[in-house]
Amino acid sequence: MSISQIARSIAESPTLRMNEEARLLRERGEAVIHLGIGEPKNKTPITALLSAAAKLNTGDIKYSPTDGLPSLKKAIVRYTEENYDKVVAPENIIVSSGAKQSIFNVLYTLINPQDEVLILAPYWVSYPEMVKMVYGIPVIVKPEDGRFHPRMEDIERAVSSSTKLILVNSPNNPSGVMFSDEFLADLIKFCERKGIYVLMDDIYHKLVFRRRRWTPAYKFARQDLESGKVIVVNGIAKAYGMTGFRIGWTIANRRMVEVMTNVQSQITSCTAMVSQAAAEGALNGLQSIVDSLRLTIENNCEVMMQELKAFTGIKTIKPDGTFYCLPDFRAYSHDSVALSDFLLKKAMVVTVPGKEFGMEGHLRLSYAGSIKDVTEGMARIRWALDPSSPTEIYIGDRKMIRDWM
Ligand code: PMP
Repeated sequence: MSISQIARSIAESPTLRMNEEARLLRERGEAVIHLGIGEPKNKTPITALLSAAAKLNTGDIKYSPTDGLPSLKKAIVRYTEENYDKVVAPENIIVSSGAKQSIFNVLYTLINPQDEVLILAPYWVSYPEMVKMVYGIPVIVKPEDGRFHPRMEDIERAVSSSTKLILVNSPNNPSGVMFSDEFLADLIKFCERKGIYVLMDDIYHKLVFRRRRWTPAYKFARQDLESGKVIVVNGIAKAYGMTGFRIGWTIANRRMVEVMTNVQSQITSCTAMVSQAAAEGALNGLQSIVDSLRLTIENNCEVMMQELKAFTGIKTIKPDGTFYCLPDFRAYSHDSVALSDFLLKKAMVVTVPGKEFGMEGHLRLSYAGSIKDVTEGMARIRWALDPSSPTEIYIGDRKMIRDWM
């Protein structure tokens, strides 16, 4: 079989692979704890369910307009006004099958072969692969000071005449760090001057802790939406815990949305109508459910931080938001893939190797599950790695003895 070069070069999504491994182990009856998880445990908001059910009840489930149902776009206009303090027109919006497809479509629409796309490490695993899929060149910018916050000096050094776009995700998967207003202001100013697009992946913007304020990048833009460089991607997956509905959207200038609509019309025609109705229900419904989800996750984060403190030799940066953290495990191993495999085999805990996010020696740990997942998962990791922890532990109903150190 002759697989194309580009398809062969694309790596499997490691986070989805870990999900599958966890599922298979659970199916075999293993007491797996999933600290790799990228979705909250809440039930779908009732307003989303009712709206989807009402659509189903009509029995009239057909193609929608390629760029999204007008009523959903109206809800997104309102959401943008409320959360971004920005008035956008329905013609500035295109709805896609998850923020993932939104990002891909933006890249497909803007990137010519060999154009460079700056990706700020630590980064979401899919960014470099998506850039490769449109024949662009991912250029990874790593903060040289060992923190997880990008620096303008590193970005300026990485920019070349081929730089077309910078991908920004704040609060950030996998570090949980939210970028400072000062940095964003400098970045937007720099990109406007240089004519570089900035794609703001705002998927975690509602999951910000300790009453910190998230600022939309528009605030720092001098140019208006039609002539400016800021493109926004958002969706319902994380804030509403509606990952399975696959709804995301892009806000960009009208010309770009027009072209993205042509592109999408040849790929998926449109997003599933029932999912769009669900998204509309979530966006128009009571928003206190987002607050309660955030509070639950924030509490889990505090517990995770306490657990990590108890661990000898682990360094971690406290997240500002999301449901991830990225502790430095180099005291135990510099090979995060081997370490993650070891923890799965010995302790039945799923983690994601930092290598996949451009941060070797780290592990991405998620606290999107229950408190019990966090405390038990961390107790198992300590048992497996930290010689100062007790040598015996129960995994499920099996008593395990640490005999490898
Ligand atoms: N961006 C980031 C940073 C993410 O972590 C994810 C999901 N893991 C997405 C985008 C994709 O979201 P969706 O489920 O809406 O495709």
